[in-house]
Amino acid sequence: MLEVSALNVSYQQQAVICDLSFQLAEQKILALLGPSGSGKTTFLRALLGELPYSGQITLGGQKITPHSVRLAYVPQDLGLLPWKTVWQNVVLAQKISQKRHQHMLEEPTALFEKLDLMPVLTRYPAQLSGGQKQRAALARAFALEPELLLMDEAFSALDIVTKAKAQALFLEQWHKTPVTTILVTHDLKEALQLSDQMLIFSKNKRPQLLENPLAKLSYAKRIKPENLMGPF
Ligand code: ATP
Repeated sequence: MLEVSALNVSYQQQAVICDLSFQLAEQKILALLGPSGSGKTTFLRALLGELPYSGQITLGGQKITPHSVRLAYVPQDLGLLPWKTVWQNVVLAQKISQKRHQHMLEEPTALFEKLDLMPVLTRYPAQLSGGQKQRAALARAFALEPELLLMDEAFSALDIVTKAKAQALFLEQWHKTPVTTILVTHDLKEALQLSDQMLIFSKNKRPQLLENPLAKLSYAKRIKPENLMGPF
């Protein structure tokens, strides 16, 4: 269980997150939605240990630090190292994680195949399409076999068709190896398609936790476009 209790995060004198408490069951996906400047990235940065906070953030009862919890983070710019190939980006991240957590990770070949990256393994990020970069970042995240996966608008740079394919691949891979996931998005359709619960941020108000009404559908049904159109 991911447990956030009485969380407060501020920059200098500006309080951004005030007294936030909620719980997320293990192996569920939480989407963070809300207007620009409402604190979504600030929350992720607190989770990543990049910002000081008061209150508690724990996973399975343990305070989350990069050393206590196997964490994978897919930032908005995807964070691929430009001087490393796709293969090197993934394997280097695995090596760092293995050292930190004394955890043996699987060879990423099956992931590369699943995410259709075999033809581009020796390419550098600048030599990839947007969709290929996105899939490389997903491969790197899943190759860490994380206990907690954080994604910050990781699909936002893609065109609508590439985005739909990347989201479907993400969901398929996620269901093979489910992991507690928090994803920031501005896209309500994406939140409905991917999440179990949604935490809606707004300025000057405590975030509201909502159940995703589509979460009871199987993921295969959720990624069918006709199930997503409805009133949206
Ligand atoms: P977006 O959807 O645009 O990414 P967000 O919901 O992720 O926005 P945050 O980036 O968390 O919002 O910002 C929340 C508030 O904190 C904003 O008022 C922002 O100006 C402020 N803020 C963010 N980073 C810093 C910083 N390093 N120093 C001071 N204030 C900051």
